[in-house]
Amino acid sequence: MSESQAAVREICDAIIKRVDRAYVAECGRKNEFPQKLWDMWVDTGLLSMGLPEEFGGAGGSLKDIVLALDLLHREALLLPIAVTNFMSREPIMHYATQAQKERYLPPTATGEEFFSFGITEPDSGTNTFKIKTTAIRQPDGTFLLNGGKTYQTAFLESSHCLLVARTSPLDSEDRTHGISVFIVDTTLPGISATPMSIGMYLPEQQYQTYFDNVVLPADSLVGEEGKGLSILFSSLNSERLLVAAMNVGQADYVLKRAAEYAKVRAPFGVPIGSYQSIAHPMARAKTYVEAARLMMYQACDKHDRGESVGLDVNMVKILSSEAFKMAAEIAMTTFGGAGVDVSQDILPFYIAAQNNTVAPVNNQIVLSFIAEKALGLPKCY
Ligand SMILES: Cc1cc2nc3c(=O)[nH]c(=O)nc-3n(C[C@H](O)[C@H](O)[C@H](O)COP(=O)(O)OP(=O)(O)OC[C@H]3O[C@@H](n4cnc5c(N)ncnc54)[C@H](O)[C@@H]3O)c2cc1C
Repeated sequence: MSESQAAVREICDAIIKRVDRAYVAECGRKNEFPQKLWDMWVDTGLLSMGLPEEFGGAGGSLKDIVLALDLLHREALLLPIAVTNFMSREPIMHYATQAQKERYLPPTATGEEFFSFGITEPDSGTNTFKIKTTAIRQPDGTFLLNGGKTYQTAFLESSHCLLVARTSPLDSEDRTHGISVFIVDTTLPGISATPMSIGMYLPEQQYQTYFDNVVLPADSLVGEEGKGLSILFSSLNSERLLVAAMNVGQADYVLKRAAEYAKVRAPFGVPIGSYQSIAHPMARAKTYVEAARLMMYQACDKHDRGESVGLDVNMVKILSSEAFKMAAEIAMTTFGGAGVDVSQDILPFYIAAQNNTVAPVNNQIVLSFIAEKALGLPKCY
């Protein structure tokens, strides 16, 4: 274990002693921001992990952040603003100008400012190339932003959004051309957002956003105009690993809860955990969780060494989301009717596990990607 990983473990142990699942679940039920957990993110310095010291960070790597998410989600402490903030920092560290890095990165280490991330649109869904939001360069160098996004996690709470927009129309010869990435101040005139009502207990609010002739300063653009795809993938690859940590962590939490229940629940006089119909799916799920976790940390190591990880992180996406779904399904079966009892706090994980096979990207398109890249099968999307 590296020095930074030992520090992460120590911090997570301290957090787990001070915040419990009951608090986080209560915030989820009331749709309230888990302030206590957020304060600990900030106070313990965990938020500054993965950010170089020259930008106010504590150093360390993506693997350290993934480890923190894994450890805390094993206790079902769903950290607020984890994914969007970390996945947005990543391309800024690698592709932004020095001035942009100095302006935008340090406040994300202290929690004064943080990022949301905007790519999904109501009509284009998974097909990013079809996005309609445009940012057209004006004669004075600024960009005029028009359009809107959906499912924008914590948009209004965030200071900035790392936003994907078209700077030129879709070119059927090269659909990757014309995609650009911007750092958008969420308070700019012309921006509005409405909260979405979703049936999940999440630590953040989701928003539908609207951009009406928003003037973006010239230096909002990250990297080269029209060539934002590699920038985008730098974000999306780290997103896959961050969400994988949440998947394996929560999978372990529900398995732990299910095993505890199966040891004492005995409608026929013997604990239900002695039935193979309960024990085997749990054992199978646990095996998948550990396989997913191994591959997740291996992919983190490759990522942190600067190696290409496109295929690895997509395989991790499949393994971790399926492991979480298997774990949540057997937990629901184990709890029987009590699975839907709100006070048992099991159902939210079942919903989350299903959702995580669809978001941040659906498993069907991920499998198509793996089929193409690993097996040479025809591209179908
Ligand atoms: C809680 C939550 C938070 C989110 N936060 C953010 C955020 O902060 N920022 C952001 O930009 N987005 C966010 N999203 C959006 C998320 O990334 C999308 O929901 C996801 O990418 C799927 O897109 P869609 O919902 O439009 O599904 P669609 O694209 O409409 O797909 C619907 C279904 O069709 C199938 N399908 C689609 N395309 C294919 C294909 N090519 N091959 C095979 N099957 C296919 C899949 O089964 C898929 O589940 C969030 C979503 C949720 C639920």
